[in-house]
Amino acid sequence: MTEEAKHKCGVFGVWGDPDSANLAYIGLYAQQHRGQESAGIAVTDGNLLRAHVGMGLVSEIFKKSVLDTLTDSNAAIGHNRYSTTGSSVPENAQPLLREYIGGQVALGHNGNLINSKILRDEYEQRGHIYRTTTDTEVIIHLLAAHHLSHTDPLVETLQHLQGAYSLVFLFKDRLEVVRDPWGFRPLVIGTTPGGFSCVASETVALDAIGATFLREVEPGEIVTISDKGMSSRRFAEVQQPAHCIFEHVYFANPSSQVFGETVQIVRESLGETLAKEAPVEVDCIIPMPDSGRSAALGYSRASGIPYREGIVPNRYVGRTFIKPTQSQRNTAVQLKLNVVRDIINGKRIVVVDDSIVRGTTTRAKMEQLRRAGAREIHLRISCPPIRHPCYFGIDFQDPKQLIATARTEKQIADFLGVDSLHYLTLDGMLSCVTHPNDSYCNACFSGNYRLNVEQPVNKLDLERHQLKMFP
Ligand code: SF4
Repeated sequence: MTEEAKHKCGVFGVWGDPDSANLAYIGLYAQQHRGQESAGIAVTDGNLLRAHVGMGLVSEIFKKSVLDTLTDSNAAIGHNRYSTTGSSVPENAQPLLREYIGGQVALGHNGNLINSKILRDEYEQRGHIYRTTTDTEVIIHLLAAHHLSHTDPLVETLQHLQGAYSLVFLFKDRLEVVRDPWGFRPLVIGTTPGGFSCVASETVALDAIGATFLREVEPGEIVTISDKGMSSRRFAEVQQPAHCIFEHVYFANPSSQVFGETVQIVRESLGETLAKEAPVEVDCIIPMPDSGRSAALGYSRASGIPYREGIVPNRYVGRTFIKPTQSQRNTAVQLKLNVVRDIINGKRIVVVDDSIVRGTTTRAKMEQLRRAGAREIHLRISCPPIRHPCYFGIDFQDPKQLIATARTEKQIADFLGVDSLHYLTLDGMLSCVTHPNDSYCNACFSGNYRLNVEQPVNKLDLERHQLKMFP
């Protein structure tokens, strides 16, 4: 991803291992790509839960002195956040740790509820007071409200939720791990080197702690992990899945297995298909680092045109999209990506990237290539144009911010300053994954939403509400 679209979040959990806090730290570190705004770890020693959350990267928040305060524990959950509901502020950092009539609970959430405002309004009418502007806190309030009146408060809670949610709950005596009935986001179970159970958004976190992948949490399933072992119950009927295909295009780590397939293999296949759909006679294939590398390999292999690293990243500059203003982002782009003039100068090149969102930073990169002497620039994108908002955990909720909304490819190419532009077709993208086509959500490309979004969901919906409540 070249710009601006934001990751969702990453979750991690481990039960029974005396090294739980450190394992959570490593598990979050391995999933840093899923969220860089804030992170947190909650632990239990079997009686009391404690948590530490902070703003920034995992390595910035969890110094040794902080981790040392969490090590006396036998279970932990962790969370990396990119805000999709509620601002990026310390109050919204997760895991959220709360005390309620059922005891203590900590919760980490990857996804986005599409009915969080309705639920929050309903419970505020009943007197509930919220401390954050996240949809995650809404889930905890439902859990507390259902605690006394139902035999299985968690099942009752989940039956009210609409949208994408991979959840990791920590109670003093167990982990409860939940995946929404549509399986929007990945969630996997593994076994730690000590023989204990762990969960993560992506298998890359299991690999990082030396754990063995067991299986995915099934859509509509709750997995309970405690000293008694692991058990499973369903809270929803089996549905037609709506796996987020963007996990394969961009979000997930290439080494992860997502929805049963290795991401790197899928991305190379996207590039191969792109080469067949949109061939062009050029001197070399240039990947946009690091987002277009896998697809560029596939494009090069299928076309027989040499792959050259004509743009090299400066690894000491942060990811561009965490800069809050456009001018800061553009400066970071210049700093971060250095063009290798001897590879580019005088050449006809294909540049491969995984997606375009707003287009502003892509344009800046194309200008850099022109200044380096590129004779022709043909941009190839390994997914279809993003024309519709995502309400399921990705921060492109406003169609006005999407360059492909209401623009032709030619208009976009002119804006970016390239000689030609081709996106992979929807059919081409879907031909690169193995589940049936209708097992994936592709709403941001097609506009076909698997869930009925009654009213557009805005990241700051709950914030405006709170301002209204407390002017
Ligand atoms: S709308 Fe796009 S990004 Fe959002 S869940 Fe669907 S495929 Fe993924």
